[in-house]
Amino acid sequence: METIAERLKSTLQTLEQTVQDAKRPSHSVQLLAVSKTKPVSDIVLAYEAGQRCFGENYVQEGAEKIHALQHLSDIEWHFIGPLQSNKSRLVAENFDWMQTLDREKIALRLNEQRPEEMPPLQVCIQVNINDESSKSGVQPGQVLALAAYISQLPKLTLRGLMTIPAVEQSETQQRQTFAMMKNLFEQLQLHYSQVDTLSMGMSGDMQLAIEEGATMVRVGTAIFGRRN
Ligand SMILES: *Cc1c(COP(=O)(O)O)cnc(C)c1O
Repeated sequence: METIAERLKSTLQTLEQTVQDAKRPSHSVQLLAVSKTKPVSDIVLAYEAGQRCFGENYVQEGAEKIHALQHLSDIEWHFIGPLQSNKSRLVAENFDWMQTLDREKIALRLNEQRPEEMPPLQVCIQVNINDESSKSGVQPGQVLALAAYISQLPKLTLRGLMTIPAVEQSETQQRQTFAMMKNLFEQLQLHYSQVDTLSMGMSGDMQLAIEEGATMVRVGTAIFGRRN
């Protein structure tokens, strides 16, 4: 059995090798360690091995872990799960990033609920890139309208786009999907100079996503092992 530190190290090596092979600048892709369902002790092991950015999917679980690890104050916490509007306060009061924003109503609530003393919440718009009825996220054609809405909210900072592609795709389709996201991302950057984040790619498709332009990959299983 490999340890979390070993798996983290080999994930980072694969990441950086893929970046190099794709002729992209070194360190142009950030690793988000997805710790959902994993105990706080696993997060501490990854932290001790140097990891600082962690992603959580469930509001309550995430908030509890953030409180338990308050003393590790340089952790950056990303919310990456679906959010019901009645749970938005827990995200606004605890997380640094919210990557799954797809509705004006939630944007407005997060802006109102973000505590005055905290820096703005860093947000990504989630895109339903394969137009799946089961998935949250906006249609590609709705990105600019939601971006315009977010950009007038002072306690939110728009940082980019996030997607969870359909699973049943061939490699060619996966590439096309990621390339469509890259295209949307570049359009968004034309309008907003602070936009720098394209969050796509997980344990199974991290390399493809990097080759197609991801700036952040969200990796759980490859670092922490399988979830029950
Ligand atoms: C669980 C999850 C991940 C990580 O998936 P792995 O396949 O375990 O790497 C990434 N992004 C989101 C939104 C997730 O829910």
